[in-house]
Amino acid sequence: MADDDGTIVIVGAGLAGAKAAETLREEGFPGRVVLLGDEDERPYERPPLSKEYLQGRADRASTYVHPPDWYAEHGVDLRTGVPVTALDRDAHEVVLADGDRLGYRTLLLTTGSSPRRLALPGADLDGLHYLRTLGDSDRIAAALRSSSRTVVVGGGWIGLEVAAAARVAEVAVTVLESASLPLLRVLGPEMAQVFADLHEEHGVDLCCGADLVEILGRDGRVAGVRLGDGTEIDADAVVVGIGITPNTALAETAGLEVDDGVVVDESLCTSDPDIHAAGDVARIWHPALGRRLRVEHWANALNGGPAAARAMLGTGSAYDRLPYFFTDQYDLGMEYSGDAAPGQYDEVVVRGDLSAREFVAFWLADGRVRAGMNVNVWDVTGPIGDLVRSGAPVDRARLADPSVPLPEVPTAAAR
Ligand code: NAP
Repeated sequence: MADDDGTIVIVGAGLAGAKAAETLREEGFPGRVVLLGDEDERPYERPPLSKEYLQGRADRASTYVHPPDWYAEHGVDLRTGVPVTALDRDAHEVVLADGDRLGYRTLLLTTGSSPRRLALPGADLDGLHYLRTLGDSDRIAAALRSSSRTVVVGGGWIGLEVAAAARVAEVAVTVLESASLPLLRVLGPEMAQVFADLHEEHGVDLCCGADLVEILGRDGRVAGVRLGDGTEIDADAVVVGIGITPNTALAETAGLEVDDGVVVDESLCTSDPDIHAAGDVARIWHPALGRRLRVEHWANALNGGPAAARAMLGTGSAYDRLPYFFTDQYDLGMEYSGDAAPGQYDEVVVRGDLSAREFVAFWLADGRVRAGMNVNVWDVTGPIGDLVRSGAPVDRARLADPSVPLPEVPTAAAR
């Protein structure tokens, strides 16, 4: 029998799900809230797993979203280690792995994403790791403690942050990236080069245009990798970060609209008015950018979960946060706001000192700022976001001039 007397069920106990539960209580929702997670851990944040937690500079407790007692204290029925196997939309029920069924009035999908797997000979050897969970981070940290050479497959965010952790631990590391530069697909060649130089200066053997064809093994364990041109690289650990795929299976099987993510409107509502989605899994209609996008970053989980909660209660407005992410690698800290992948911009303007890695880069299309990245420069994400949102034409010389406050950059063009 469906228990649908106001129950809100959240499927996915990551950051988006936990923050949604928190917001439901903050907004005064009096009904039952059930938060279901398939991992055994209570909700935790992922950014530290490839940064300070991986490097042993942060403890496990600091990664959790809430203290252990928070859920009971706030009347949130957190159930960990409970995979959901199906959604029965007609009955308004979720089906759990043990066959139990749980009724809902409204449902939130925060099912996240899963690492893409290598499909190569040797990909099942011991010593090959993916990084998604706290347990993965623990295993990679342990591997780095005893590794003499680690190969990292993928020069994206996971790959570069793990490479930095390896170098900090004085482990020799080779990064294999299929593109001609790391982060090329996100930053374009101008700023991807900054990260390539950074890692090479820290002793990373950066191998771009790499065609990995086999993971080599000895006695069931990773012993190296082979590239398409026959090159072999010895390694006692391999860490793979080649992207993620959204966990859409539940939504797809239930007949929700799915297109590289669960398709949602600006209120994070799916094609079923009683089901919302947020975080990595949601493909959002972004009103400010005027297109759909799926954002695979921490800030989207942090803010999207609460936005979905408010939308479910009817107290929210459109979710129109600009995409935002950050990284810390060696002594480089950066924040990126906006969205300007290669093909979406026609020039990059730099304000500050590129060679000292203390600057702000702006990606422009048609003379308008589409995204900005502050590197070792702080407290500018607000003005950068304002420039992106305004869509105002900018004067390039003023944009590049650090003496002109960012809010005053477009004004000149208007004069
Ligand atoms: P990612 O950022 O999408 O990067 C994957 C990289 O691997 C890409 O450069 C990709 O090149 C390359 N690649 C794909 N297949 C390859 C192969 N067979 N051999 C060598 N290189 C290959 O994904 P990720 O690093 O795995 O991170 C997973 C998710 O977590 C992403 O959504 C990421 O944004 C997020 N994350 C974010 C942060 C942060 O914001 N600081 C930190 C960690 C993780 P192509 O682009 O050419 O395919």
